[in-house]
Amino acid sequence: MEQVDAVVIGAGVVGLAVGRELALAGHEVMVLESQNAIGTGISSRNSEVIHAGIYYPKGSLKARLCVQGKALLYAYCAERGVGHRRLGKLIVATEPAQRAQLDGIVAKAMANGVHDLQKLSAEEARALEPALACEAALLSPSTGVVDSHGLMLALQGDMEHAGGLLALLSPVQHIHLSQGTATHPIVLHTEDGTDLACKKLVNAAGLNAVAVARSMQGLNTALLPQAHYAKGHYFTLAGKAPFSRLIYPVPEAAGLGVHLTLDLGGQAKFGPDVQWVDDPTELNVDARRANAFYAEVRRYWPALPDGALQPGYAGMRPKINGPHEAAADFMIQGPAEHGVPGLVNLLGIESPGLTSSLAIAAHVAQQLQ
Ligand SMILES: Cc1cc2nc3c(=O)[nH]c(=O)nc-3n(C[C@H](O)[C@H](O)[C@H](O)COP(=O)(O)OP(=O)(O)OC[C@H]3O[C@@H](n4cnc5c(N)ncnc54)[C@H](O)[C@@H]3O)c2cc1C
Repeated sequence: MEQVDAVVIGAGVVGLAVGRELALAGHEVMVLESQNAIGTGISSRNSEVIHAGIYYPKGSLKARLCVQGKALLYAYCAERGVGHRRLGKLIVATEPAQRAQLDGIVAKAMANGVHDLQKLSAEEARALEPALACEAALLSPSTGVVDSHGLMLALQGDMEHAGGLLALLSPVQHIHLSQGTATHPIVLHTEDGTDLACKKLVNAAGLNAVAVARSMQGLNTALLPQAHYAKGHYFTLAGKAPFSRLIYPVPEAAGLGVHLTLDLGGQAKFGPDVQWVDDPTELNVDARRANAFYAEVRRYWPALPDGALQPGYAGMRPKINGPHEAAADFMIQGPAEHGVPGLVNLLGIESPGLTSSLAIAAHVAQQLQ
């Protein structure tokens, strides 16, 4: 049977960041990806925003890893020439009753170590963005956007340069945690019949991560959450973007509200909305959803012309809380949680997983030490 020090399941931004981290630390690493290319999952269908770390509960993994990850990501993008822009974002109160929510957001941000938010009056916000309608706003100067595919290519390049291997078209079917040798106890079975033994295993399978963890013989599955899926649709704006910063309404229960983001070329898109679904593979955009988008967006941009929104794309959130449950934190289960040496399961890695990817990788490497 083939043997390798460490296996990472999934070549999305998180799996590639973990593969790079382990390879740079001197481990012999193999990343197994079921598809024929890197980054075809959640990592290619998101907003590409480098989040500041504002909204998450104090002390949560999301808060800590987002704030750490943001700093690591800006430094990494600058060092490796990955496309990114620190555009800044405005969080806008569109009704007087939402002013108090802005104060709550400032308090949350401060508790998370984000000290650069600036409170703006409606006039100050409009001086920055004349097309904006609002009662008041917050400016987050450290929010930006990143070329997520360029980032994944750079991570893959670093991993391979450090001796790591990427195997495409290699879906892992099931796993036995103690079937191998004394030194390489974990055995993975891939769809083509290959068996691979390893000492360390990181499950970064995104939307499949809970199912992959359930396939592990020898793991206490009572510790695993139920997988849920929340689809997010985007609509693109035909024509020139009316704003030069990202514009977010105050957040909603399951997402951050229908916000405006810009890509590196300055093209604007709106979304994602939230639709709880059973099938994580269904990614069509129903053009009729545009009606709700017009209403949401006109709260902060009343001049949005009729017919300006075009169906864009959809992404799928890997939720580990249901629609009527409190928002869950990232669930990173290492040996301390499940008692299996060398194993880390990454569950519920939804937003801000892109921003946090380098910090998640460092956290995983620490758990495997
Ligand atoms: C709508 C939306 C908007 C978002 N916006 C942002 C944002 O603006 N900023 C931000 O920071 N985060 C954002 N996120 C979150 C971010 O995109 C994700 O946290 C991140 O991309 C997750 O990466 P991943 O590597 O865990 O998953 P994925 O990219 O899905 O990678 C998992 C990989 O595992 C592979 N795989 C699955 N099963 C197997 C198997 N059995 N064997 C082998 N391979 C397998 C898949 O093919 C896939 O390539 C957003 C998410 C969504 C859904």
